[in-house]
Amino acid sequence: MRALTVAPGIPHSAKVEDIPEPPISDGAVLVRARALGVCGTDREIVSGSYGWAPPGKTRLVIGHESLGVVEDTPAGCGFSTGDLVVGIVRRPDPVPCACCAVGEWDMCRNGRYSERGIKERNGYGSEHFRVEPEFLVKLDPSLGGLGVLVEPTSVVAKAWDHTERIGGRSRAWQPKTLLVTGAGPIGLLAALLGAQRGLEVHVLDHRDSRLKRDLVRDLGATFHLGALSDLDSLKPDILMECTGAPSVVRDAFGRSAPGGVVCLVGVSSPGQNLGIDIGGLNRTMVLDNETVFGTVNANRGHYEAAVDALQRADKTWLARLITRRVPADQWTQSLDPQPDDIKVVVDFS
Ligand code: BGC
Repeated sequence: MRALTVAPGIPHSAKVEDIPEPPISDGAVLVRARALGVCGTDREIVSGSYGWAPPGKTRLVIGHESLGVVEDTPAGCGFSTGDLVVGIVRRPDPVPCACCAVGEWDMCRNGRYSERGIKERNGYGSEHFRVEPEFLVKLDPSLGGLGVLVEPTSVVAKAWDHTERIGGRSRAWQPKTLLVTGAGPIGLLAALLGAQRGLEVHVLDHRDSRLKRDLVRDLGATFHLGALSDLDSLKPDILMECTGAPSVVRDAFGRSAPGGVVCLVGVSSPGQNLGIDIGGLNRTMVLDNETVFGTVNANRGHYEAAVDALQRADKTWLARLITRRVPADQWTQSLDPQPDDIKVVVDFS
C-alpha cells in the first residue's frame, strides 16, 4: 500500500513509498484512509527537528490528523464496516504513570508515551491503517469530510477544558472575553469553541487575509491585525496563545484581566532569548492572580467534546477552513505553506 514516510531527524527525507499492509499488532480494526490533515508538527518532523521512528526502524509513517472508513472489524467491538472514524493520536506509556493509568495519557508524567505518526508509532498516512477499538472514535456520517478536523479540535477542546477548570478556582469566575492569538486552524477552532460558549471573541493575527477576516466575522467575533502590544486596552478573561511565536508568547504573559487565564497551545522552537522584565511580570501576575499554563494533546473525553463541538458548528463555516486538498501521491506539496492556507488536507480517496 502507499504510505507517506519520513526518516525522523533527517531533513527533507519525505516520500511516498510502498509498504506492507498494517500489522494486526497495530489494532484489530482495519480502516481505509479517506483524508489526512497536515499541521505544523508534520512540517517540523519533515524538517528533521522533531519526531521518532518506531523502535528498530529508521522511517516513520507520518500523519496524526486522520479520517477513515472501517473496512474490517471483529464482531462485538463497537464498530461496523462503513463507520466513519478518527484514530486517537497518543498511547499511554508502558509503566503506566498515574495519569496514563486513568486514561489521561495527554497528561503523561514520565514522557514515555508514544504518538501515532509522531513518536515511535507509525501514523495514519497510509492507504490502510489499523487501530485498537479503544483508540478509535466513531463519527456521525453527517460530518463527512469535516471529520478530518476532529484531531485539531480535540487539542482545542482540552485547552478549553483545562482553562475552565483553572479559571474555576474562584467560585465567582464568569469569563466574558476571549482573545486568541493566531488565526490558523487551531486559533480559529479555539475561537469557534469560545463563540459556542457565548464569549465576546477577539482574534489577533500578524498577517492580513480576507478569508480569515471573514471567518472571524462570521463567528460574530472581531479580527485584529498587528501585535499584542497594539491591544493594550483589551484585557481578556481568557487568552489562548495559538501561534507559538516566541515574541507573541512573551507578550501574552501578564496580559489577561485579573483572575484571568493565559493558555499556551502553540509549540515554539527553542533558541530565541527575548529580553523580559521578569520582576515586572511577576508583579503583574501575582497581584492579578493570573495563571499561565501549557496544554498538549487530548484524551478520549476531549475527542468526544470535539466531535460534539463540530456537530454543533455551521458546516459551511467549517468547510471554509479546509483551503487546499492534495492527492496522496503529491503529498510533499502539502508541506510548503501557501499564503492563503488554513488547513491543508491530503486526499486518499
Ligand atoms: C498533536 C498532538 C501531539 C503534539 C506533540 C500535535 O501536533 O496534535 O496530538 O501531542 O503535536 O507531539
